[in-house]
Amino acid sequence: MDGTETESRKLLRRLRDAMAEDRAGQARLDNITHLIADSMGTEVCSVYLFRDSETLELCATEGLKPEAVHETRMKMGEGLVGRVAKTGSVVNAADAPSAKGFRYMPETGEEIYSSFLGVPIQRLGEKLGVLVVQSKQAREFSADEVYALEVVAMVLAEMTELGAFVGEGAALSARHQQAVLIRGTTGQEGAAEGHVWLHEPRVVVTNPIAEDPHKELTRLHEAVDTLRISVDQMLAGASGGDAEQTQVLEAYRMFANSKGWMRRMEEDISRGLSAEAAVEKEQSAARSRLSQVTDAYLRDRLHDLDDLSNRLLRILTGQGRDTGAEMPSDPILIARNIGPAELLDYGRSLKGIVLEEGSVGSHAAIVARALAIPLVIHAGGLVTEALNGDHIMVDGDQGIVHLRPDDTVVAAFRDKIAMQAKAQERYASIRDKPATTKCGKTISLHMNAGLMADLPSLEGSGAEGVGLFRTELQFLVRNQMPKRSELSALYAKVLDAAGGKRVVFRTLDIGSDKVLPYMKPNDEPNPALGWRAIRVGLDKPGVMRMQLQALLRAANGRPLTIMFPFVAQYEEYTAAKAEMQKAIERERILGHPLPEKLEIGAMLETPSLAFAPDKFYEEVDFLSIGGNDLKQFFFAADRENERVRRRYDTLNVSFLTFLGNIVKRCDASGTALSFCGEDAGRPVEAVCLAAMGMRTLSMRPASIGPVKNILRSIDLDGLRRVIEDAGLRGDQSVRPAVLDYLRKQS
Ligand code: PEP
Ligand code: MG
Repeated sequence: MDGTETESRKLLRRLRDAMAEDRAGQARLDNITHLIADSMGTEVCSVYLFRDSETLELCATEGLKPEAVHETRMKMGEGLVGRVAKTGSVVNAADAPSAKGFRYMPETGEEIYSSFLGVPIQRLGEKLGVLVVQSKQAREFSADEVYALEVVAMVLAEMTELGAFVGEGAALSARHQQAVLIRGTTGQEGAAEGHVWLHEPRVVVTNPIAEDPHKELTRLHEAVDTLRISVDQMLAGASGGDAEQTQVLEAYRMFANSKGWMRRMEEDISRGLSAEAAVEKEQSAARSRLSQVTDAYLRDRLHDLDDLSNRLLRILTGQGRDTGAEMPSDPILIARNIGPAELLDYGRSLKGIVLEEGSVGSHAAIVARALAIPLVIHAGGLVTEALNGDHIMVDGDQGIVHLRPDDTVVAAFRDKIAMQAKAQERYASIRDKPATTKCGKTISLHMNAGLMADLPSLEGSGAEGVGLFRTELQFLVRNQMPKRSELSALYAKVLDAAGGKRVVFRTLDIGSDKVLPYMKPNDEPNPALGWRAIRVGLDKPGVMRMQLQALLRAANGRPLTIMFPFVAQYEEYTAAKAEMQKAIERERILGHPLPEKLEIGAMLETPSLAFAPDKFYEEVDFLSIGGNDLKQFFFAADRENERVRRRYDTLNVSFLTFLGNIVKRCDASGTALSFCGEDAGRPVEAVCLAAMGMRTLSMRPASIGPVKNILRSIDLDGLRRVIEDAGLRGDQSVRPAVLDYLRKQS
């Protein structure tokens, strides 16, 4: 170890002592600047902190004029200090006044200092301020000196009271006080107000400075060993799995074994940091690189490194998710991402959910919908911005999050919540009334479900039954394949809870976006067009047989309705039906009761089925249009791809005409038809579907009120004419004409 390293250790030790002293606030910060200047042999040491996201303020100094403290301010990017803040990188200038961007601050008296070294004070990518040393002697600071100052800046960043130096009585950090508006994407509609609950609270490093470097090195090595073992285990668990997952984990392992990463952390420790501070320093560096990198692959790798650092920090500090903090009574969950099982653990205790990642069709989104919790996804940067307990408002309708909202936003948002509550009251008042239109047609409204948690809504929403029970959710939220006995117990509970109302059980719809964690995934170029749903069921009938048997047993003699997903041609339906017949035969032989009534239907999710032979339409007990899939195949636009998802309107004349043709075919063959995609739950879309002749709609429970409300006020014959006229005129979408009609009606 050379002299400078010893110096930086010495400096850190002095810093630790200074921080442990009883002095608080300004006195402590003044003492720290004095000590840094003294140790580094510079005349000046100053601390500049952000008072808002754009402005830096001189908060303490040794060497500059004391009256400039809390007076001198500069904008981000202004002068050398502003440049350090903006770029997040070091400025090391022997002749500062002639350096690019230098700005003279007369009140500080800094003109006599020639050399300048400024380093950012940042914590995990969050900019807090700038630490500067200056001296009269015109010299460039050595790499070791730069390093020492960076380490000190990092220790400063850990001082929780740092923000309190900026202005009067400011709290934790200036940045963490400001109102922030983050635009994401709607995952589940609804508005919620509450307080932040971080799914993975950041680990608090309480001892950034090492007492004994040897001990810290040992701690680091032990923690890294533990980390490597856990990554190896993950990899072993995934072996035989899909290539992509293995590749990701391999990259992960490569990082865990990375010599460079290890060496840098060892160096940090030898210069005086504790093991956890060393990990955090590397993590900070990765985060600031992350904010600059646009390449998707590199970003993923930096995310990996970030994730590994978090794991390592948890190992070192023993701080897990459970930090002992108390969950607020109105928690809004904030996470980068979350699995469906973890979300179910929180259950209905959550008021809202905001994810930095996630997708509309992700399992977490499905669970959030089942629990009717407002959800915003793709809310970039929120995890770093939010602190546990922050006031937060989630607008699931518009995909907007207001963090620490100011009074005007709070007032407007509360008005919105109150209006929604009023609307709910109106819906509750028509709950037991039929959805009969002005022209006397009654539409049957059913709900979509997939979890036991959905069932209470059957009563509350006024749904006539469950028009789509997505059985795959029970498979998705588990870590292993459920047993037949478990499934039949669960289906029986669903039927019990439905109390005689019709429940349409859709058989397992996996593949595409729905990948079971315990089933070997397939490496397919186009999973949405690939081996999914009934295709899997027919090729590997074991699971389908088990499920059919579980359903028959659950019915235990009661009426049973089963629907096969993603049927693309007649023969698939007959093959699936034959499986059902076999299952019934087996049950009969075993002497088990058979359903008093059995309906077997199919989902129409591929355009091909609209053109299936008449015998298909005559044979099938009912058809349900899976509009989510049907629309994606009709327009060839991936429902999961944000770029194209909203490109084509459901109310596009071609699509409505296509749906109208399906209605005609069903009318001709007397086949019962329903529509169960997301569009059924959107009021404007729902009335258009009804106008096109659909008499049964199935939607999320929360949509039943609004859809019934609009249906009861509408003349479907008039609307049908509006749609036809728009078609004749050659409109691309009937939406403008329909909206105009609805406005005139109201
Ligand atoms: C659909 O495709 O419209 C549908 C209801 O099924 P899922 O959304 O589960 O694919
Ligand atoms: Mg579908």
